[in-house]
Amino acid sequence: MYDIRSMERSEIAELMAKLGEPKFRAEQVWRWTAAAVGGFDEMTNLPKNLREKLAECCELHRPEMLAEQKSSDGTIKYLWGLSDGSAVESVVMQYHHGNTVCISTQVGCRMGCAFCASTRGGKLRDLTPGEMLDEVQWSSKASGLDISNIVLMGIGEPLDNFDNVMKFLRMVGAPEGAGIGMRHISLSTCGPEGGIERLAEEDLQLTLSVSLHAPDDETRSRLMPINRASGGVKRLIERCNAYRKATGRRVSYEYLLASGITDTDEKAELLAKLLSGSDGHVNLIPLNHVDGSPLEPSDPERVRRFKEILESRGVNVTVRRRMGADIDAACGQLRSKRQNG
Ligand code: SAH
Repeated sequence: MYDIRSMERSEIAELMAKLGEPKFRAEQVWRWTAAAVGGFDEMTNLPKNLREKLAECCELHRPEMLAEQKSSDGTIKYLWGLSDGSAVESVVMQYHHGNTVCISTQVGCRMGCAFCASTRGGKLRDLTPGEMLDEVQWSSKASGLDISNIVLMGIGEPLDNFDNVMKFLRMVGAPEGAGIGMRHISLSTCGPEGGIERLAEEDLQLTLSVSLHAPDDETRSRLMPINRASGGVKRLIERCNAYRKATGRRVSYEYLLASGITDTDEKAELLAKLLSGSDGHVNLIPLNHVDGSPLEPSDPERVRRFKEILESRGVNVTVRRRMGADIDAACGQLRSKRQNG
């Protein structure tokens, strides 16, 4: 079976040639799949026998909305049921500059970060390019909102599903589909070995966001097991600096503020030192508490002080606005609640 939703225009053209169909039919089919059509029977400008032929050799699923939660700040979270019965989350956030969708890249995650709900049951499988496109386009259809930006910050580690994510990134720019270009996309990673390097080779104009969360190896390894396997924080910053050099794109660092653990004055000083000499931007994220985790969010006064120290050391820093705090919008929370009953 062909996964037709994950096929690019040229691949659909090849398939249609194989099926003995004229070129203009390939173009018609591509337009339907790019637009996230729900099934072959909806491809109304194709003859019935062609629709049947396609249904025999291709899969085309429409994700099933298992849950929708709306926050008072306009954030909407979806739990999507996939063809194999698994589920992933997408979140639509409304900002003044446009609407952003945060999508998942894997079903579960194998990175094992201590603060994250997505990793609790491990990784079940990678998402296909088509499933990621579905998250973008069906979130837009379901919410009735145009989407102008995408962040790959949902469930999963995008660089652990490298080839599918690259294909998704190529396809999501297609004007017949979502039409969202690289400059409107951010990819968030915890920095698995080799991943940032491979991404640099692709030389894309997207924004690379690196989940740093601690400025020293002891703390980062405790929170994020990937730290040990990928050579530690100093090496991570070197890898990011090399990425910056190769692509010309400034790297953004995500830094979680967990009370007493990552938010002390000492950590702020260490972080400023670690980043001196790089022009990265730091995004401070107030932790979202997840059930069963000993980590607690920092109080607002601590957040203010932490930011102040970084600024006084010349670090470019912002505090991320909390969106959807009333609807379990933290990574993986909705999915994990459902799995637990
Ligand atoms: N695997 C990728 C992308 C998914 S996580 C990565 O590590 O970046 C997306 C972001 O959400 C990461 O910065 C992650 O550290 C953060 N995150 C996970 N759990 C969180 C929580 N409980 N509170 C706040 N941010 C969280």
